Amino acid sequence: MESSSSFPDVESSNSETSSINTGNTSSSAGASSSATTLSRYENQKRRDWNTFCQYLKNHRPPLSLNRCSGAHVLEFLRFLDQFGKTKVHTPICPFYGHPNPPAPCPCPLRQAWGSLDALIGRLRAAYEENGGKPETNPFGARAVRLYLREVRDLQSKARGISYEKKKWKRPPPQQQSTAASPPPPPPGAG
Ligand SMILES: [Zn+2]
Repeated sequence: MESSSSFPDVESSNSETSSINTGNTSSSAGASSSATTLSRYENQKRRDWNTFCQYLKNHRPPLSLNRCSGAHVLEFLRFLDQFGKTKVHTPICPFYGHPNPPAPCPCPLRQAWGSLDALIGRLRAAYEENGGKPETNPFGARAVRLYLREVRDLQSKARGISYEKKKWKRPPPQQQSTAASPPPPPPGAG
């Protein structure tokens, strides 16, 4: 059983206000009808963004958004790992490289690479929608990209799952050249 994304508060609740305690429990006073028409992606993005802002608020020492760097984003991703539900086997585990282990093992649970990758994409967009400049976007930092790549490689080895990008490859055009075409298969021998 593997859920593709599993973050605290961002995924578990489908109510408008997540369980994050922001200290602002009252619903907005004015117009509130537009929120329901937001797409699922937009909702998720908003919740992710709230989670990140909350993380910054609780950060010790306190951290403001405009001082946030790629290193802080990595901290955030590692922080999320404690809520992960994806088993990532260590190299000494007998199930290392097995996508479907037959028995439980004490290996740690982590956030799945795909979840982190999607999360970073949403936060990256949210950062700029909230006034951040693209050139200082910490979610687009090189360190973050490298970290995600590392996680992907590690998890694909540990879980025996390939995360190769499914690039849409165009099938080669059917050429009508008489010379290069292979002979048609013989009619069913019987
Ligand atoms: Zn294991």
